[in-house]
Amino acid sequence: MASAYPFAEIEKKWLRVWEKERPYRAVDFDKRKKFYGLVEFPYPSGEGLHIGHAFTNVIMDVLARKKRMAGFNVLHPMGWDSFGLPTENYAIKTGVHPTTITERNTKRFHKQNNYLGISYDWSREIDTSNSGYYHWTQWIFIQLFKHGLAYKAETPVGWCPSCKIILANEEIVAGECERCGATAEHRRQAQWLLRITAYADRLVDDLKLVDYPDYVKQAQINWIGRSEGVYLDFLVEGNRRKITVFTTAIDTVYGTTFLVLAPEYAQGLLDLVPQGKRESITKYIKESLKESELERKATEKAKSGVEMGISAANPFTREAMPIFVADYVLMEYGTGAVMGVSGHDARDHEFAVKYNLPIKIVIKPAPGIKEKVLLGEDGFWDYPEIKEHARQAILCNSGPFNGLTAKEAKDKLEIDLEKQKIGKRTVQYHLRDWIFSRQHYWGEPIPMIYCPNCAAKGVSWWDTGEGKKFRPQIPNAKYYIPNTSLAGWFPVPEDQLPVELPPVERYQPTDTGESPLANVKDWVSVACPECGGAARRETDTMPNWAGSSWYFLRYCDPDNKSSLADFKKLKYWLPVDLYVGGAEHTTLHLLYSRFWHKFLFDLGTTPTPEPYARRRQHGIILAEDGAKMSKSRGNVVNPDEVISKFGSDTLRVYLMFLGPYEQTMPWSTKGILGVYRFLAKVWRAFRQRLTESTDSGLREQLARLIKKVGEDIESLKFNTAIAAMMEFLNHWGKKGLSQKDAGIFLRLLAPFAPFITEELWVKLGNKGSIHQSAWPEAPKVSEREKNVVVPVQINGKLRGTVEIKEKTDLGPQDLLKIIQQDDKLSAKIMGLKIKRVVYVTGKIINLVS
Ligand SMILES: [Zn+2]
Ligand SMILES: [Zn+2]
Repeated sequence: MASAYPFAEIEKKWLRVWEKERPYRAVDFDKRKKFYGLVEFPYPSGEGLHIGHAFTNVIMDVLARKKRMAGFNVLHPMGWDSFGLPTENYAIKTGVHPTTITERNTKRFHKQNNYLGISYDWSREIDTSNSGYYHWTQWIFIQLFKHGLAYKAETPVGWCPSCKIILANEEIVAGECERCGATAEHRRQAQWLLRITAYADRLVDDLKLVDYPDYVKQAQINWIGRSEGVYLDFLVEGNRRKITVFTTAIDTVYGTTFLVLAPEYAQGLLDLVPQGKRESITKYIKESLKESELERKATEKAKSGVEMGISAANPFTREAMPIFVADYVLMEYGTGAVMGVSGHDARDHEFAVKYNLPIKIVIKPAPGIKEKVLLGEDGFWDYPEIKEHARQAILCNSGPFNGLTAKEAKDKLEIDLEKQKIGKRTVQYHLRDWIFSRQHYWGEPIPMIYCPNCAAKGVSWWDTGEGKKFRPQIPNAKYYIPNTSLAGWFPVPEDQLPVELPPVERYQPTDTGESPLANVKDWVSVACPECGGAARRETDTMPNWAGSSWYFLRYCDPDNKSSLADFKKLKYWLPVDLYVGGAEHTTLHLLYSRFWHKFLFDLGTTPTPEPYARRRQHGIILAEDGAKMSKSRGNVVNPDEVISKFGSDTLRVYLMFLGPYEQTMPWSTKGILGVYRFLAKVWRAFRQRLTESTDSGLREQLARLIKKVGEDIESLKFNTAIAAMMEFLNHWGKKGLSQKDAGIFLRLLAPFAPFITEELWVKLGNKGSIHQSAWPEAPKVSEREKNVVVPVQINGKLRGTVEIKEKTDLGPQDLLKIIQQDDKLSAKIMGLKIKRVVYVTGKIINLVS
C-alpha cells in the first residue's frame, strides 16, 4: 500500500522543515484582519492525544489554515490544562512528582499535534501548572476577594470514610468513592466560594451578544435558572413564628393545603414539635442530611416526608394547614420552605395523595380551551400548562380573585401581599455560588493568609490601611460586598505572588481531610501581612476549573510578567472569533470562564464583555462497533497507529469527511481506506503530465469548487467540501488539467492535507510554502455567464429583443445573423434590404434599410 504514495517520507520531510521555520506565528498588532481560533486545551494525561483531541484540533486547523491563506493574521494557540486529579493520582501510584509527569506528558502531546500537522503558534504555548501562569490565576482570586466575590463558608462536601479524603463531585460516582468504591458520606466543611450568583443576570442577558448554538444558550439559561416569584410569610399557629416560603405561583395560593420544609429548615423549628413526635422527626432530619443534594433531588426517588405535628395559617384564607418536613425540598433554592399546592403541582399532588391530604383546585381552564388541555381526574392542572395558557386560566375557590385570569390574579396578589406586608417580590436563581476549594495537592495554592490574632480582634482586610483605601473597580457597585465576617483572612500581598506550590514528599490527602500542603509546616507558617504575628497560609488549592477560566487571555500575551496580559494586545485579539469544544463544557467551563471574563471586564482588565463571539460544539467519534471508545472495551482508535499506517493527511481528511462535525459518528476502517485512495489519486494525478489545453466545462467546475470549498470551510461543512473535491478529481482524471488549475486545486486541499499539498506544490515549481500562498479567488462564473437583453430596432422602431452573453466579442454582423435566425424578428425584416447595422455593444442594435 505504501507504494501508492510515499506519505511517510513526505510527512517526515515537511515536519522537519516546519519545525525549523515555525511558519505559523501570530503577529500582534498586524494590519491584516485578525482571526482568533480557539479549541479547548487538553488535560495532558499519560495516555496521550486521543482521537477526540485529534478531531477537535483538525477542525480548527483547517479553518485556521484557510484563514491564513485568505489573508488573515491568525492566532491559533495550544496549551495544557495540567492541574488535576489524574496526574496527582498517578504521582501517588508511581512516586514520580506531578511536575515531572506533566512535563513528560505535555512533550508527548506537543509532538503528537505536530505529527498531526496542526499549525499551532507554539511560541504561545501555556501551562496552567507553571507558576508564571498561575501567578495570574492567583491574582484574579485576590481581586475577587477584594471585591467581596470570594468568601469562605461552610458547605456540604463528599467524604470517603475509607480513603479518608474529601471527594470532589467528579470523584463520587453513583454515590461511591471513585477510587475505592466505599459509600461516600457527607460532611460540612469551610470552603472558599466564588459569588458567581452576583453575575447571574448578566450571564443570562449577555447571551444575546454571542453566537452559540441554541441548545448551549438554553442549557446555560436553565443552569442559572432565574425565576421571578415572591416570598410569602405563614405564621405557625399558637406561637406566631414565621415560615417564609418562596413561590413562583402565587396565583395558586388559595390552593395551598400544606407546607413542606427542607430538613435544614425544619431543624430550626424542632422546639415547636410536640414531645411525642420530636424523636422521629429528629431522626428523619438526621438521615436526610446524610444524603447528597443530588440524591435528594433525584426525580425517581419516592417523595417521603414526615408530618411535624404543627400547623400554620394561610395568610390569605386563614385556614390552618399541616407542616411536613421532606428531603426533596432543598435549602439552597428559595428559602427551604414551599407551599404544597396539591391541585396544580405534580410533586405536591403525588405527596398529597400519599399522605391523604386534600386536593384543592383553584385554577381551571376557560370553557373554550378545556378540551385542549390535559386535566387529571380530580381536576388537577399542572402549573407549567397553566402558565402556557395564562390568559385562559381562570381562578376559582380563590375568594375575591375568583374569575380573574391567572395572569391578572398574579399581578394583583403580588401588589396585595406587599401592601399587607406579608411578603415581597423577589428573583431566585438555581445557580449557586461556586465551591472553589479542594483539599488536594496538585492545584493552584489559594493565595490567602489566616491570622488568628487579627481574627480574635475582628480585623478583616477591609479594616486594614489597604482595605480602607480600596475602591471597587466595578462600575456597578452592587456587586461589591465587603465581607467583614472574614476577619483574620488577608490576601497574600500582590508583590509576593506567585505563591508557589511547594514540593512535597507525600501527595496523599491527609486523614483529617486537609490538603497535603497542611503538612508542609515551614510553608504554612508565615507572618501576618497586617500585624506581623504568626499566621498560616491557606492550604486548600483551586479546582481544575480555575486555570481554564482565563487561559484564552494569556495566549494573547503569554510571557507578560507585569500583568495577566497587555490590554492593547487583548484589544487587538479579543474576542475569540470561534471557540470549538465539547458538549461536556456547555455549562460549567463556559459559564465559569464567562463569569471571570465579565469580572475582569468590570476591572478594566479585558476589553470585551464576552470572551467568545462564536461557539461551536463538535460531536463524538464512536468506535467501529458503534460503542463509546474505552480502554476496557479495547475499541480505542489510536491516532499514532492510524498515522503510521495511512499517514497524517489521510487521518485529517478522514476525520473531516466522517460527517457533519457536530454529529456523533462511528469510526470506519473502510472509510479511511477510501480517503487514503483519494489522496493517492491526487498524488498520481500530479505524476501524469499536466495538459495545457483547458476544457471550459472543467474550468467552470473548478470555479464552482473554489466557491464551494471556501464557503464550506467557513461554515465548518468540511465533509461536503471534501466530497466536492473528490468529485472534481474524478472529472479531472478524465479530462486533464492545466498546471495553473492544478495549483488552484492543491490550494483548496491544503488546509485539509497540509503535507501532500506542500510536496506537490513544490514539485509544480512554486517557490515558498503553499500554506503561505493566497487562497484562490473564484472566477466570477455567474458574471461570465450572465446574459444581456439587447433591444432590436428596425428603422428606429423597437421591434423586439435578442439575448446574448454579456461578455462576448460578437460584432454587428454576428448579431444580424442571430436576428435572422430568430423566428419573430426574422419575420419582421423579411423582404427588407438591410443597408446598415448600427450596434452599440451590449446596449442596442438598429437595422436600417
Ligand atoms: Zn475511597
Ligand atoms: Zn494579624
